[in-house]
Amino acid sequence: MSALWDFSLDEDCQAAVHVPPRSALFSLLPGGIGTPQQESLLSLLVRTSRAHAVSPRRLIGKVFGKAMPAIGKLDYSTFYRSLAGTVNGMGLYAGLFVSAMEDLTGRPSLDCLTLLPWKEVFPHNGQGLLARHPRWCPVCLYRQRLLGEATSFPLVWAIEPYRACPEHACLLDDHCPHCSKTQPYLPRYPDLGICSHCRMPLSGIRTPIALPEFQSWVCKAVTDMVVHQSDAGLSICFDRFRRFVEEQVSTVAEGNRAAFCKALGFHDRGLNGWLNKGERPSITHLLSLCYGLNVMPAEVFGASWSQATALRLLPSRLKDRNACLRVPPEHRQKIQVHLIALLDANDALPVSEIAANLGLTRSYLRYWFPELYARLTKRFKVVAKARSREHRDRQSSRVVEVVGQIRANKEYPSRRRVNRLLHKERMSLAQPHLFQAYLRALKQP
Ligand SMILES: [Zn+2]
Ligand SMILES: [Zn+2]
Repeated sequence: MSALWDFSLDEDCQAAVHVPPRSALFSLLPGGIGTPQQESLLSLLVRTSRAHAVSPRRLIGKVFGKAMPAIGKLDYSTFYRSLAGTVNGMGLYAGLFVSAMEDLTGRPSLDCLTLLPWKEVFPHNGQGLLARHPRWCPVCLYRQRLLGEATSFPLVWAIEPYRACPEHACLLDDHCPHCSKTQPYLPRYPDLGICSHCRMPLSGIRTPIALPEFQSWVCKAVTDMVVHQSDAGLSICFDRFRRFVEEQVSTVAEGNRAAFCKALGFHDRGLNGWLNKGERPSITHLLSLCYGLNVMPAEVFGASWSQATALRLLPSRLKDRNACLRVPPEHRQKIQVHLIALLDANDALPVSEIAANLGLTRSYLRYWFPELYARLTKRFKVVAKARSREHRDRQSSRVVEVVGQIRANKEYPSRRRVNRLLHKERMSLAQPHLFQAYLRALKQP
């Protein structure tokens, strides 16, 4: 008996069906690519959490942590509150989250949502690059709400020198207008437009103010950096920057570095670090130089340079607000060796003290040596807990002694009598472990 239908005769059944690869998370389109509204990676991450109706912190702890164990170690509140800000930057966390997000969403080239394209130009510690707290233009958020759009934070808002919204002529906010608190970089609730503390909207209306010309220029220049950072024709590296400076000095100031610096309002030997020692410029240095030469940052890294006609003196100095530590890589290795040695030392010190002894900060150690930091912290906690237990045991024994002393004086060891003696030694029966010791002592004959 023949089959009812021979499938090999049907062309449709033989045609290979292309099933696109599936991603673990929704693959949302990043907002405003190639425009001043180009979204930041943290913003996309929070929007993705919202699409899955979960908290961003839960998404990172459970999904990102599982996909990439290095991210799993970051599941603690200080990371979510402040350290996560560097996910938008050009350091370790930016690299980790870009590759995790690309893997989980199947969307490539997400490094343009961070400042990773600039990692070969700016100092490794990202000096003065990122704002200390999340910032936003309340009017932009208000407009997003009116249009029914999901809240999206452009990358430029995260960049420290960008301090105003040129479109709405207002300064960026970094405190909730209702409760005056700063916001965590990764909130529990998946909406960056809602205050993490009082749950009120961060959007609002502002009366436009006259922004100083220099501030408007800085905003334009930072936007130029973000919009062009993925351009194929650019070579964004320190060498290109150095050669640009050399060429400008020779064409504009006939090779006279001091005259060049003076015309721009720089320190006399301001160029020596870049040209002689290979020191990288901070973002404020780059912007100051670009302002003086009247060029946009992306032009510095372009294929050809137009000659500056006249140098402009800086109207005010852009400050590196975050006076971050500059630690050369070889010194960092010595710090690592020192930290490893401390793991076997007799005395366990708190990490804050270790950092202070090295002239560093706790957050520096946590950023560069996360594993050692965790081990040192754990070690100190275990030792501190044991010390505290010993101390409490000593105090409890003292209560038993005091009860014995009162009895020896042929008096009843009432709470008042015992407390009177304990107060002299800065103890009290109000402390639960001492009260329990007192009850035990009373039962003793
Ligand atoms: Zn705005
Ligand atoms: Zn609030």
